Amino acid sequence: MGEFDLIRRFFTRPTPHAVLGVGDDCALLQSAPGMQMAISTDMLVGGRHFFADTDPLALGHKCLAVNLSDLAACGARPLAFTLALALPEADEAWLAPFAQGLLALADAHGCELIGGDTTRGPLNICITVFGEVPAQSHHARRPLVPTSALLRSGAQAGDDIYVSGTLGDAALALQALLGRVALPPEVLAQARQRLERPSPRVALGQALRGVASACADVSDGLAGDLGHILERSGLGAEVEVDRVLPLLAARRYYPGGEAQFDQQIGATLKAQHPQALALQCVLAGGDDYELVFSAAPAERAAVQQAAAQSATPVTRIGTMQASPGLRLVDGLGRSVAPQFASFDHFSAAQPSPHRP
Ligand code: ADP
Ligand code: MG
Repeated sequence: MGEFDLIRRFFTRPTPHAVLGVGDDCALLQSAPGMQMAISTDMLVGGRHFFADTDPLALGHKCLAVNLSDLAACGARPLAFTLALALPEADEAWLAPFAQGLLALADAHGCELIGGDTTRGPLNICITVFGEVPAQSHHARRPLVPTSALLRSGAQAGDDIYVSGTLGDAALALQALLGRVALPPEVLAQARQRLERPSPRVALGQALRGVASACADVSDGLAGDLGHILERSGLGAEVEVDRVLPLLAARRYYPGGEAQFDQQIGATLKAQHPQALALQCVLAGGDDYELVFSAAPAERAAVQQAAAQSATPVTRIGTMQASPGLRLVDGLGRSVAPQFASFDHFSAAQPSPHRP
């Protein structure tokens, strides 16, 4: 199978919304009046960001999901994407499920494959997504940039901080697959779904336009990605440990519940504190593809409305503050960092999409 056969068989589809799709030197997209394009690129390298033997169906899903998650973080509606592929060989048994996983997610979001590039080389998948947002903002605060897109800048002291969905399960699954923790098979199976088939929060992102004051997607761990909002907004934050710990779903569906999880799984890694592993997964795990965002306290009902409208759970986890830094506190606002401080089992040397 030659390059052009391969493109025709696996990656050429109708593109009813694009002016011109696969087959010419350029694809053509028509931007609608009053709209702006939101554009983002993510590259996944075999052996670096995913295991070389990853199920190609899951991989096809994931490499588009991580890109759609960036559009979600901006509140953009997906339009189209390009796919640049380096493949060691034209293996149909790999290409067919890869294309299936990729294009099923693309169809689910109405995101058309309009072009790309295909070459022989070590497995490498690079996707660029194009989305759109209205230029005109209806947010109560005047945006720093003339757009309705959600930005990392724009949070203010006193704003509430929220995250969508659950956090840390993908990281826990990765630790289990690397043989560092032993999870019961049913717990691993659920956590692994989060690692391999993340759900980009595209509907929530769009529902939060005009409501959230700042937003980012959680690809590198909550602490890091909330950190980006803090840095771009020139703020600090307090996050309540009792609000984020329950976000690790595996802890809830562990046989015997949360206490058993802390005792049995935490203990296998000689954690200093029984909840340290859970907290590490939630705060620093990565690969979650949830949204972290801020909104003024006056917008609480609007945030709930956006969550309901997009059928995506959101949890309020803390507050933006003027003094810089991220502080982990208990329900009374007392710092709890010291009891967790000496625990760090995640190294940067493992496959994960967003560790360059
Ligand atoms: P050029 O050499 O002019 O850059 P190519 O011959 O590489 O173009 O590609 C031919 C057409 O196939 C182009 O429209 C390109 O966008 C498309 N294409 C190439 N690889 C892929 C791919 N993996 N998925 C979708 N379209 C692709
Ligand atoms: Mg080419």
